[in-house]
Amino acid sequence: MGDRTAFRTCPLCEALCGLELTLDEAGTVKRVRGDEKDPFSKGFICPKGATLGSLDGDPDRLAEPLVAGETAGWDEAFEAVRRGLSEVVARHGRDAVAVYIGNPTAHSIAGPLYGSAVVKALGTRNLYTASTADQMPKHVACGHMFGDPLAIPVPDLDRTGHLLMLGANPLESNGSLASAPDFPGRLKAIRARGGKITVVDPRRTRTAALADEHVFIRPGTDAFFLMALVHTLFAEDLVKTAEHLAGRVNGLDDLRALAVDFAPEDVADATGVPAAVIRRTARELAAADRAAVYGRIGTCTQAYGTLNSWLVDVLNVLTGNLDRPGGAMFPRPAHAPVYRRKKPFTTARWRSRVRGLPEVNGELPVATLADEIETPGEGQVRALITIGGNPALSAPNAARLDRALAGLEFMVSIDPYLNETTRHAHVVLPPPRPAQTPHYDIALTGLAVRDYARYSPPVVPLPDGRPSEAELLARLAVAASGTDGDPALLDEMIIKSTLAKAVAIPGSPVHGREPDELRKMLDTGTLTEQRLDMMLRLGPYGDGFGAEPAGLTLTRLRTEHPHGLDLGALKPRLDEVLCTTSGRIELCPSTCAADVDRLRSALRDPGASGGTVLIGRRHLRSNNSWLHNVPELVRGSNTCTLQLNPADAERIGVAAGDTVRVTSRAGAVEAVAEPTDTIMAGVVSLPHGWGHDRPGTRTRVASRHAGVNVNAVTDEQEIDPLSGNAVLNGVPVTLEAAR
Ligand code: SF4
Repeated sequence: MGDRTAFRTCPLCEALCGLELTLDEAGTVKRVRGDEKDPFSKGFICPKGATLGSLDGDPDRLAEPLVAGETAGWDEAFEAVRRGLSEVVARHGRDAVAVYIGNPTAHSIAGPLYGSAVVKALGTRNLYTASTADQMPKHVACGHMFGDPLAIPVPDLDRTGHLLMLGANPLESNGSLASAPDFPGRLKAIRARGGKITVVDPRRTRTAALADEHVFIRPGTDAFFLMALVHTLFAEDLVKTAEHLAGRVNGLDDLRALAVDFAPEDVADATGVPAAVIRRTARELAAADRAAVYGRIGTCTQAYGTLNSWLVDVLNVLTGNLDRPGGAMFPRPAHAPVYRRKKPFTTARWRSRVRGLPEVNGELPVATLADEIETPGEGQVRALITIGGNPALSAPNAARLDRALAGLEFMVSIDPYLNETTRHAHVVLPPPRPAQTPHYDIALTGLAVRDYARYSPPVVPLPDGRPSEAELLARLAVAASGTDGDPALLDEMIIKSTLAKAVAIPGSPVHGREPDELRKMLDTGTLTEQRLDMMLRLGPYGDGFGAEPAGLTLTRLRTEHPHGLDLGALKPRLDEVLCTTSGRIELCPSTCAADVDRLRSALRDPGASGGTVLIGRRHLRSNNSWLHNVPELVRGSNTCTLQLNPADAERIGVAAGDTVRVTSRAGAVEAVAEPTDTIMAGVVSLPHGWGHDRPGTRTRVASRHAGVNVNAVTDEQEIDPLSGNAVLNGVPVTLEAAR
């Protein structure tokens, strides 16, 4: 036996690239290349994917559980978890245990399938995730407009002729809330076929440099800009009453009335965008044959995150581009049944104890987790479960949360590393290596710019006795329930209830059939694979358990399409998606309309556009804090610098390489200055995910390349009130040369 080749999906970002791995006899990943036969990524790979072998074989990766800092057996570790959680629940009640689910969980098959079981088993209302430091505003906006917070339109990159992008930098991020391998290549193709790309951003990013036009905008003012575009479309009679949307949109007149106060001339000072540019942008958008507006993290992590996310899709509707080829379209993931009965979206079913912030999507804002841990009283959070996140670095005012974590009575983390967060955990449960882990992108294929499915079985077997990631989560759910039941029963229960519902719903491909008969037809693999098989067979491309014999099953996907299956370009599917109470698109939902008052007041506030503000930054070789222990990705020059305009550098008397002290209400940080005219005057930028200089971690490479933590200065008190999302862009700061 010599080297062998195996194929799998890259789990490191949202782009869903196929990878070709070369492994030696011992199962070590020696080389990683793009999978040329993957029909979606066609061989594309970025520097992160190419280092998957280093991540997989990282000697700092934990191989066994830690209990009180000491290596322990799995049974011992789970018994410690059961005991720790049970004691807190017995003393303080179920809400005393909080759960934090980090971003990597969305990049696995086990996270979406088992994460909610942990929360349900606990019965806690204290669920926090990375979503409220990222994309929650988009969920809220789509929930209000379309009735489903997961119905997020994505730009139809491969067919659009005009792309207006705000707060997105896919040349560094490889795309987000729009899964598209080789996003850069797809952008270049828009231009090659005669289309236009406009980027609106406070920095001239690499994406902006590739675009036809870059519009500098003052951070935090996108909602003014977007409102002015809406205003112009109405004022210049450019609103298209698209035939396919006729009779399916509520609120057009209300929206027109709301936009009256936001003429381009009224917002030019606040945004820094000349009125003529705003008017031309609106006209070009309206005139384009096929256009899409796309906003990403820069628009979400602002004080008006939900308004921005709403207005992006308002523009897609007003220009007739929603749900049409070349516009903004809804992906149709292969694993999600289209016949599901969905309840219309609502928020604030409960509120956070300390600040009274509304629940959204079943969770509370991570910006208030420290409040809930630190503030005494009934319902105080005393224990925490973290699953694949590092909030001690990634939460706003992370230093405060870091201190709060140290005071918990009990904490358990599922994580491969002893990092800035998990160093506080009493028990750490490490998942297996990526090569030992199966993959199917449940969360991200719902955001892909083509319908696509790929299943990657583990390429290296698990050692005896080593639980898979799914088994870890299932056992954690059992431990959280305070029992010592069989984790396999969790899957059985979910399979049974899903099939029972499916046979009862008219319109389902298995309506009227016997659940037991369907159960026997499932894949013969692991319980996780059986659940995935069930989802695919009930999905829009599935075999309907024999009703569509040529349809998809997991067996077929695995054996006939080992490089993935292209299910075609996005298709119009508004009827499948809409689940508002009215059955129409709510163009002017009352919640968003009411929040426009806040926007109007800010426009009248002459101080709104003054002072220095901080924004974030993304680099191609970095992904949050996950990859800073990979030597190939951190070597070379320091990227964790403070970018500032040369005029600002001169004003405070610093040159390249000097140290600048950045101070906000929440705290201060010192960073190395990088003057550059690619950033607006009055704006400074630090990348996120850094700050690996805390004691008690076991990430040797990251510790040597610690960087500084941007969340030392972001403010947990500042949120977008509709979504609870943290404000990580447009943070007011002062600068001074550090002595
Ligand atoms: S772009 Fe994303 S999915 Fe593709 S190889 Fe890079 S990290 Fe992996």
